Amino acid sequence: MAFKIYLSPPHMGGEEIKFVQEAFDTNWIAPAGPSLTRFEEEMAQYTGMASALATSSGTSAIHLALRWFGVEKDDVVFCSDLTFAGSCNPILYQLARPVFIDSEPDTWNMSPVALEKAFRWAEETGNMPKAVIIVDLYGESADWDALLPICRKYGVPVIEDSAEAAGSLYKGKHCGSFGDIAVFSFNGNKILTTSGGGMVLSSNMMAVEKMRFWSTQAREPFIHYEHKEFGYNYRMSNVCAAIGRGQLRFLDRKVALRRSIHHRYQALLKDIPAEIKSHVQPASSNCWLNLLYIHTEDVTPSDVVIKLHNAEIEARPAWKPMHMQPVFAGCTSFSHYEDSYVDEDIFAHTVCLPSGDSMTDDQLALVIDEVKKCFINVSR
Ligand SMILES: *Cc1c(COP(=O)(O)O)cnc(C)c1O
Repeated sequence: MAFKIYLSPPHMGGEEIKFVQEAFDTNWIAPAGPSLTRFEEEMAQYTGMASALATSSGTSAIHLALRWFGVEKDDVVFCSDLTFAGSCNPILYQLARPVFIDSEPDTWNMSPVALEKAFRWAEETGNMPKAVIIVDLYGESADWDALLPICRKYGVPVIEDSAEAAGSLYKGKHCGSFGDIAVFSFNGNKILTTSGGGMVLSSNMMAVEKMRFWSTQAREPFIHYEHKEFGYNYRMSNVCAAIGRGQLRFLDRKVALRRSIHHRYQALLKDIPAEIKSHVQPASSNCWLNLLYIHTEDVTPSDVVIKLHNAEIEARPAWKPMHMQPVFAGCTSFSHYEDSYVDEDIFAHTVCLPSGDSMTDDQLALVIDEVKKCFINVSR
């Protein structure tokens, strides 16, 4: 479906084409090339991680990380429950068993309470996970000071899924620098896009080199093609990396634009029985998407989505929790409260509104107008 206003469309800053032209001029079209190496170095420098590997997607980046941590058939992997399926599909690629951890009510990221419950279960039942995948959801950082010590206590490594959080900070440090391995996505709807792509980052350079080896079909350093292990075709191309280098130079500006849109949504969407979710650390989120939490049962997220679609505006309900997905039926999951899930409530009440950093004032006004119309006959 074509929309007039998209949720999070690509927005080029201008320098991307310069780097792409350079790739064409030097015929470094594929597979690797100088821009690929430079993009990895620049992202590592930006986040403060020692080493980076550019991949074909965020999902493939998570897959490589799981293999590095030795996840195999029937192993357990903990994962944030409220997320996009790209976070946890790679657990199935390894034939391992996902266990889903609910959100906490402040950041909507992984609940330390539910995580602790899950670890106690794992200890009692002999299901200690090989890794924990923690998401920085919608651009807002997880509460690393609460979550990391729990994982350390049980000696389990952390994969930080920062797919949605390029440019976000947690207490002054970049998202994508907290996990033992961190992952970005550069898919078309993410704040920094390479048209499609992803990245693995780590301070463990050996880990990154091993993942680099697997990402290019595990070719041994021989003159002929020699393979002792199996690999994947998971590498980013030099042309995509060229786009990424341009986008990275534009990233801080993009974050500032998205924050400004977030503040205007908050200021202008008043007097309706719904609110734009605020961030625990407002000056730290990249404000990837704005989330409208509906306080009345008279209007559902689907009502709002359909109303906006009729006005050619793209909108979506919040992620449907993984423990509610048919494909993950039967997986174990742990809730934040004793008898209810925070993320089920989020899913039942939340709509994602257009938040692209290329959005104009007129477009924002149009979205706000249409959202308000959804609540016209509803008392506060
Ligand atoms: C987009 C996304 C992914 C997957 O990234 P792709 O590049 O689309 O494979 C993983 N996790 C989260 C939280 C995402 O939003």
